Amino acid sequence: MNFELSEEQRAFAQSARDFALAELAPHAAHWDAEGIFPKETIAQSGELGFCGLYAPESIGGLALPRLDATLVFEEMAAFDPSTTAFITIHNMATWMLGSWGSESVRAQWGEALTSGAKLASYCLTEPGAGSDAASLKTRALRDGDDYLITGSKAFISGAGSTDVLIVMARTGEPGSGAAGISAFAVPADAPGIAYGKKEEKMGWNSQPTRTISFDQVRVPAANLLGQEGDGFKIAMKGLDGGRINIATCSIGAAQGALSTAQRYLHERRQFGRPLADFQALQFKLADMATELVAARQMVRLAASKLDAGHADASVYCAMAKRFATDVGFEVCNQALQIHGGYGYIREYPLERLLRDARVHQILEGTNEIMRVIIARRMLQDNATETIR
Ligand SMILES: Cc1cc2nc3c(=O)[nH]c(=O)nc-3n(C[C@H](O)[C@H](O)[C@H](O)COP(=O)(O)OP(=O)(O)OC[C@H]3O[C@@H](n4cnc5c(N)ncnc54)[C@H](O)[C@@H]3O)c2cc1C
Repeated sequence: MNFELSEEQRAFAQSARDFALAELAPHAAHWDAEGIFPKETIAQSGELGFCGLYAPESIGGLALPRLDATLVFEEMAAFDPSTTAFITIHNMATWMLGSWGSESVRAQWGEALTSGAKLASYCLTEPGAGSDAASLKTRALRDGDDYLITGSKAFISGAGSTDVLIVMARTGEPGSGAAGISAFAVPADAPGIAYGKKEEKMGWNSQPTRTISFDQVRVPAANLLGQEGDGFKIAMKGLDGGRINIATCSIGAAQGALSTAQRYLHERRQFGRPLADFQALQFKLADMATELVAARQMVRLAASKLDAGHADASVYCAMAKRFATDVGFEVCNQALQIHGGYGYIREYPLERLLRDARVHQILEGTNEIMRVIIARRMLQDNATETIR
């Protein structure tokens, strides 16, 4: 068991840090305040391979292990969790298209997506189907060589500014559950698609979130990912990696907050001494660092289980997502507390990191749903033999 990163991995993480320092750090607060979606910067990250980190090489991806992808996301999220989180969603959708898309779909979009020239959204959630995603109602009806998609999606990240939508829709009868769901690659400007207003959010302000409605949207059958009825499985496989990515965005945000707090403890003086002299604050810092290291290791463990094709990889991904997003939020909150009133004002990055990290406990499966996944498995036979 080797917990050290290789020299190559460290160099890769450093290239992400350099990119983040040059291209994200100086602008993140402005993008947040003004609600700017930095598409050019995302495309620049694509030039470094960051838009197709684990996508197959056949579409121009780097086909890296998930663990290596976390190294990149963590470095970027330390300065801008919101933009980084969008890049992770784009990576997830691109991997889905590259893994299950037909030859024509991969040829049409693959390289544009891995290079960051075009962007993708992941469309699972509906107004009436959030945690219970398998109850989704958007229909895809076969019509000759095409499908006609009708229904609506809610909370779609990037919607209105992306080029390809990975849409989960029901091809089976109403009430057919997970087995009746299929996944499609849909051009974002297809006739019949309409976008709702940009949601006003607490955080994640550098990326738009919108509802999308589909009215008889005609899509060639070649745009089906995998086979009819595979869609829910594909969506969940996407989310295994997505959960590692979102967990990593929380670790990155927390690391950014922790490093800022470490510096502040030396700079700020009260009662004639630096804050660093107060043992209550020293202990707080010690707990933040300890929990953050534990969370990071858990995410890396889940990533390595996913890379190894472990039978319970999804359970580890759920555990890592639950733990790291809770720890990440708490570390950001404690770092804000260490800054006193200054933590609450926008001149410092703490309140933004906290606002951005909060949603990680909600999306890509809420942390309650992560517990449902873990508990369901733990109550089956032999769970303690494989999960330990
Ligand atoms: C900013 C943002 C971006 C998003 N981006 C995307 C995106 O790009 N694509 C996409 O498809 N979706 C996206 N989502 C949707 C997100 O995944 C859902 O919001 C999430 O899955 C929860 O669904 P819901 O909001 O309908 O909550 P609900 O499912 O209504 O849940 C409400 C509460 O009940 C709890 N709950 C529900 N069922 C159970 C249960 N069985 N046991 C215990 N507790 C339960 C939940 O944990 C939650 O606390 C995004 C959401 C947000 C806020």
